[in-house]
Amino acid sequence: MKFQKTNIGQAAKLLADNNRIALFAHTNPDGDTVGACVALCLALRKAGHVCEVFCDSDLGSSIAKFEETSIIRKQFVGEYDLFVAVDCGDIFRTGEFAKLYDGFERTLTIDHHCGQFYSRFNCLYDYASTCQMVYEILHQMGLTPDSTVATYLYMGLCTDTGNFMNRNTDKASFVMAGELLDLGADITKVCRTFFREKTLVKTRLIGRALNKLRVYDDGQVVLLYITQNDLADIGAELTDTSVLVNFAVDVDTARVGIAITECKKDEFKVSMRGKDVCVRLVCEEFGGGGHDLAAGCKLQGPLEEVIDNLRTEIRNRHVKRLRKGKCTIEM
Ligand code: AMP
Ligand code: MN
Ligand code: MN
Repeated sequence: MKFQKTNIGQAAKLLADNNRIALFAHTNPDGDTVGACVALCLALRKAGHVCEVFCDSDLGSSIAKFEETSIIRKQFVGEYDLFVAVDCGDIFRTGEFAKLYDGFERTLTIDHHCGQFYSRFNCLYDYASTCQMVYEILHQMGLTPDSTVATYLYMGLCTDTGNFMNRNTDKASFVMAGELLDLGADITKVCRTFFREKTLVKTRLIGRALNKLRVYDDGQVVLLYITQNDLADIGAELTDTSVLVNFAVDVDTARVGIAITECKKDEFKVSMRGKDVCVRLVCEEFGGGGHDLAAGCKLQGPLEEVIDNLRTEIRNRHVKRLRKGKCTIEM
């Protein structure tokens, strides 16, 4: 298969030219992958396409509060002319669908991770969110978002920019927010759901994790961890753990915040956030990836060994400051 770089206009034409379209969100779905998939699906359906969204994970309870997310399917059905991976930096982010995706001829990636070319057509740009790319694609297709589509686009824009506080926030993010507001996006519901309200279970989980908070290297590395026992004890799901990493990086001395969740015995999902440290390089060392300041990976082994490995990697190999967007100076 020939991998082809595809710009926003070409991606729009590809979507317009194909009638039956399957969209794939990434596993452990966040507001951006869900927002972009649902927005694109609803807009394409309104324009007369057959379109479905597939995701190989349950949605978190917050995202599921948005009723149109019920269109997302876990089981693959139907026949399609085009597969589209949305907000997936590599093919494995599609989870169980990776093999099916890889075996299909006509595939398109729409993603802002600027990662690998794994589709036939690859629309990869350094935007703050995939929803921003979808917004431009819809514009190129001559499709105006209705208030529901605008709400889903806002969901990704708002969550991937950390409510417009992350370094990736740019003028285009604010311009798009203003335009979505004009189109009727329910920004209050999005903000309340993703940045204010938490379930009781999530609140208890935060309490449990904070009780076990660990601090290394004069407070520069702050770590929280949750075991399978903790999850069972509190009645929490894996998806409930996504907030934890923020509590680690929000300690004022922290330059790196880490949240570790035990998925099954001796298997851990690691989330990392950096303030001025390129955590993507650390996670890539363990087969993961992400963005310079927000990345993740999976590690196996006993917990203390996993923590030691991460600390060693941060200290000895890759911890570098971000200067003018480039990783240049070692800590
Ligand atoms: P998270 O900490 O799960 O919110 O993920 C932060 C960023 O890292 C996201 O942009 C993800 O795309 C990326 N990421 C998380 N886990 C992995 C992984 N195992 N492999 C590759 N990228 C990941
Ligand atoms: Mn995402
Ligand atoms: Mn994203």
